[in-house]
Amino acid sequence: MATEHTAITRSTFDEVILPIYAPADFIPVKGKGSRVWDQQGKEYVDFAGGIAVTALGHCHPALVEALKTQGETLWHTSNVFTNEPALRLARKIIDASFAERVVFMNSGTEANETAFKLARHYACVRHSPFKSKIIAFHNAFHGRSLFTVSVGGQPKYSDGFGPKPADIVHVPFNDLHAVKAVMDDHTCAVVVEPIQGEGGVTAATPEFLQGLRALCDEHQALLVFDEVQSGMGRSGELFAYMHYGVIPDILTSAKALGGGFPISAMLTTQDIASAFHAGSHGSTYGGNPLACAVAGAAFDIINTPEVLNGVNEKRALFVKHLEKINQQYDLFSDIRGMGLLIGAELKPQYKGRARDFLYAAAGEGVMVLNAGPDVMRFAPSLVVEDSDIDEGMARFAKAAASVING
Ligand SMILES: *Cc1c(COP(=O)(O)O)cnc(C)c1O
Repeated sequence: MATEHTAITRSTFDEVILPIYAPADFIPVKGKGSRVWDQQGKEYVDFAGGIAVTALGHCHPALVEALKTQGETLWHTSNVFTNEPALRLARKIIDASFAERVVFMNSGTEANETAFKLARHYACVRHSPFKSKIIAFHNAFHGRSLFTVSVGGQPKYSDGFGPKPADIVHVPFNDLHAVKAVMDDHTCAVVVEPIQGEGGVTAATPEFLQGLRALCDEHQALLVFDEVQSGMGRSGELFAYMHYGVIPDILTSAKALGGGFPISAMLTTQDIASAFHAGSHGSTYGGNPLACAVAGAAFDIINTPEVLNGVNEKRALFVKHLEKINQQYDLFSDIRGMGLLIGAELKPQYKGRARDFLYAAAGEGVMVLNAGPDVMRFAPSLVVEDSDIDEGMARFAKAAASVING
């Protein structure tokens, strides 16, 4: 292993990769469960989970087994042919959710691109070509293609790429009056994250999602839930919509869906799906057998009472540690989110410094995330061991102390 990595260092990144990321100054080379090791053999507790992706930790035996078995069987067919792992996975998702039809893509961006195109197309063929308005929210994140980044509510990501797709309006999150003010019969969809992830780990209020459902019904618009981050068990239910009892028309899933293997899905009803026909949309890799086999294995484990109930027990342990750190250092003004998507907003005196805490945490041997400049974010494995939570939080407390004491 050592010789394999000697020629490759963090500085290689700056020589060969586009400067769109600022990765930490170490390179992870190995993972097991909720622990990761870097090139120098330093060990980390992983509370970042590859940004809410590795929901069963690193190298989970059942996922490794699924990957190996499918890897020796059939890797790829394209959509000129279908394949068994994709059909099996679609059945599992349909049996466990509101969905009657599913389509697979490769990333959250692509699932959302599919959702937004479907919403526009459905309105176009069922109602009117002028019914194209999409209502979305400030601070929302829906991906990085030009359409999805434009529906996202963060101009810092969407400005500077020329004209944006038209007819997209943004209003404040959790503000039903603001939605009412822009809602009309020309609206084809309202797009919302039940828990805003990148935007600061903010959960929608039940009244807000219920109100959106009623407004969409009144104006024959589709309600689209982006559950790329909040779905697949992260909230303690399979999908966050299940907490709210508000059923969307379209839902997107990615991140944890493949447990680390790239795959995404868009879920909808038979009626809405039927607005598309052969040729309306597509993807070469979408529904790839390797990805679907791994996702199928992950699904079988995540969608069990043991794992889903464990999420809220583990959340309680995280929150206990965060509150203790807060008593000691007076660091957070709010601890929020749902399940194992946990946000901790920094007090005014530490505003803008989330990255400093993140880098200090890595120095102490714990990987954490931020959600914007003012919020620390924890998105660990759903099956993280309690002992890993204790150890990782002890390391995070040390890191917090080092930042606070300069
Ligand atoms: C991460 C994320 C996306 C984008 O997913 P990619 O796989 O990076 O394309 C979209 N929506 C939400 C809510 C996300 O958290």
